[in-house]
Amino acid sequence: MTAQPEVPDGAPAIELRGISKAFGPVQANKGIDLRVSRGTIHGIIGENGAGKSTLMSILYGFYRPDSGEILIGGNPITITDSQTAIRAGIGMVFQHFKLVQNFTVLENVILGAEDGRLLRPSLSRARGELKRLASEYELQVDPDALVEDLSVGHQQRVEILKALYRQADILILDEPTGVLTPAEADHLFRILRGLRDEGKTIILITHKLREIMEITDNVSVMRRGEMVASVTTSETSPTQLAELMVGRKVLLRVEKAPAQPGAPVLEVRGLRMVDAAGVERLRGIDLDIRAGEVLGIAGVAGNGQTQLLEILGGYPEAGAKIEGALRLKGQPLPLTGSDAGARRKAGIGHVPEDRQVEGLIMDFSAWENVAFGYHDAPEFQSGWLMDQSAIRADAQAKIEHFDVRPPNPELAAKNFSGGNQQKIVVAREVERNPDLLLIGQPTRGVDIGAIEFIHKRIIALRDAGKAVLLVSVELDEIMALADRIAVMFDGRIMGERLPEEATTADLGCLMAGIEPGTIAPQDAIPPAALHVPAEGA
Ligand code: ADP
Ligand code: MG
Repeated sequence: MTAQPEVPDGAPAIELRGISKAFGPVQANKGIDLRVSRGTIHGIIGENGAGKSTLMSILYGFYRPDSGEILIGGNPITITDSQTAIRAGIGMVFQHFKLVQNFTVLENVILGAEDGRLLRPSLSRARGELKRLASEYELQVDPDALVEDLSVGHQQRVEILKALYRQADILILDEPTGVLTPAEADHLFRILRGLRDEGKTIILITHKLREIMEITDNVSVMRRGEMVASVTTSETSPTQLAELMVGRKVLLRVEKAPAQPGAPVLEVRGLRMVDAAGVERLRGIDLDIRAGEVLGIAGVAGNGQTQLLEILGGYPEAGAKIEGALRLKGQPLPLTGSDAGARRKAGIGHVPEDRQVEGLIMDFSAWENVAFGYHDAPEFQSGWLMDQSAIRADAQAKIEHFDVRPPNPELAAKNFSGGNQQKIVVAREVERNPDLLLIGQPTRGVDIGAIEFIHKRIIALRDAGKAVLLVSVELDEIMALADRIAVMFDGRIMGERLPEEATTADLGCLMAGIEPGTIAPQDAIPPAALHVPAEGA
């Protein structure tokens, strides 16, 4: 490693002056100024497309800016490639991990950092160093595990270890919690605080206000390629940040009247499911969802919520054994053998948890995706042929109604941002006015303006007398939307609460499989400390 250059006293760890970058007609960064002080956690917040990743890619040498200056520790530097960035002490944890899946953790960590000829002798040295870093920063991972076998949370640890192994002084994390459960995110934050306290400088990119408020010292806000404000976190508020991000007033709380529940729309009795591998995923679920109410299912990911949604939505995992009984509007609903299409006709709308896999056909246009699953509805039939122009006009209206951006129905689904893809799926399902809406992780990866919108639509559906089953790992979202909360743990409903009576600590116990009241309150595990089963474990 080369010696770090002298740092003038009090110089910021990073200073950007007038950075601009265009991609063709898109001005991704416009004259950006930014100062990041040493030994701080500096948040960068902004909606999808605001230019955050572009700015960080410039800092990491992936893109050359069209104009502007970069200073590291007060010294001007031209960052031509990521090797230059690494030598300047910058490490980056990417939004989409860049690990080699069929390599081990150790191999990934040293990859590119060591000379090929020296790879063998350096392996044992690297192993020791990795062990030291892992224990120093609570970043435990098995050095010999294959990356492809690790949970998302653990892969992220490997990315961080990789940067630390290269002696990064400045660590950039781009949307690191988008793929994590709340408890995993909490663990990450503890690590980041530890790194800061050691004197490292951390840039955290996110669009989640709560994370900014919780962990950053300072925060800079980007909007449409510009840096619109830089403030001290303790002197700002979520409302102010949301307004700066979106450029207008935003309602952070969902306004809703008390629910007026009617007759049960869905009744679930004794639902059990054993997957193809023989693992019991659902161990006897009983639930009622009434007309005019939102039933929220809280829980750490991987406790059976996915299987519940898949069975109700009509596409259980192949080879699964399923038992129990379902009734929809008082009529028996077959457990299996009725596919997603039949479920839709019966009045069940479904926004799946993973919209990229289940919700959209990425290569198809927005209008085709909006029509998807409903194309044989009577209003779209003219004689024997589907009436394409009617379908297009209908899709265009829904796209406008849901403020999908850009409002171009001809664009392929893959060309929309994650938030807008989600709006397309929600538009399709909600606008059909289903009697029962199944909705999983409705706002995962979605930015604030769109979250507000999607939440309002869910409540509007409820107020129109429909039943909603909401599954979310975001406790805030459950608390904000649900009229009743059921907590799932290990394939069971651990308990039910009304949101007005529920506390985070109480729900946290249920989420960890502990009956509240069975242990003294001072011994209760705070939700932050809950054990998180690896994804799919
Ligand atoms: P953020 O990270 O804040 O979501 P990005 O920096 O990824 O935003 O994107 C800012 C803008 O630049 C967006 O309009 C995006 O579509 C565009 N953009 C980003 N990278 C590229 C690229 N490689 N080619 C063309 N356009 C890009
Ligand atoms: Mg980004």
